[in-house]
Amino acid sequence: MSGPVTTEDVAATADGQERTGAAVVVLEPGRIARVGSLPVRRVLPHRPRKTVGAWCFADHMGPVASDAAGLLGIGPHPHLGLQTVTWLLEGEMLHLDSLGSEQLIRPGQLNLMTAGHGVAHAEEDPGRARRLHGIQLWVAQPEATRNGPAAFEHHDELPRVALDGGEGTILVGDYDGTASPARRDTDHVGVELALCAPGALLALRHDYEHALIVLEGSLRVDDQVVEPGVLAYLGTARHECRLDLREPARALLLGGTPFPEKLLMWWNFVARTTAEASEARRQWTARDERFGTVNSQLERIEVGKPPWE
Ligand code: MN
Repeated sequence: MSGPVTTEDVAATADGQERTGAAVVVLEPGRIARVGSLPVRRVLPHRPRKTVGAWCFADHMGPVASDAAGLLGIGPHPHLGLQTVTWLLEGEMLHLDSLGSEQLIRPGQLNLMTAGHGVAHAEEDPGRARRLHGIQLWVAQPEATRNGPAAFEHHDELPRVALDGGEGTILVGDYDGTASPARRDTDHVGVELALCAPGALLALRHDYEHALIVLEGSLRVDDQVVEPGVLAYLGTARHECRLDLREPARALLLGGTPFPEKLLMWWNFVARTTAEASEARRQWTARDERFGTVNSQLERIEVGKPPWE
């Protein structure tokens, strides 16, 4: 349910990004991208921001009626150097990958696929739910694990924490002393926030940078209104953050230690060099065993040469 990165999102060069080193509220609009025939709000990456902690990609999809056959299916495609994090608010999706995993995901559950040196997957719409609403994120893998084996895990239940003004579900990482069981290769956190009026006070780690993505409703941070389709970058050096609401809202809090490595993001790859990405594309096109095969009826996704070739 997430599409490839293009040069509309980030430059096809390996680089890092400037950081403020301070608490800020910067509203960074995403863009409407297409994943198959489905429009999605791509809020990360965008120029000039590639990462928030190790989070490097976010496609917010729906809510949309899912009665159009095939609309929501994404055929087999490869990944490397990243983890995919799938989170639904409504509907269901079937994950299939080259490790042999076949996993239905429903709201409140987490699918986490680690690509490492290479994996392929497909996402199918089982066709039973009337609506679909969700987000798919990628986490950049660090040098220590990015060439390692692929893996997949599913979590039916995730820890919840009471917030002053709502409830948090911890997808990945540790929030305010409670930890998700999900694998993580870097120091990062992702929490879904179910918030109610008049607002909530979030405890934050001052050594992390953070951002908010609103999934439903709207909220205010420092008098700036944040709605779906925008990344609200909060910077670093915060111990807490006040969110003001008039109506209930749902949002995702992303955070982590600023990612120290320069990334080359192109198509479905998070690499370091253009040579790595070129080689991966060549191997996918040649049906090299690196990415394995996926037991899906959907059409395999191919891509043309990258802009540097
Ligand atoms: Mn994918």
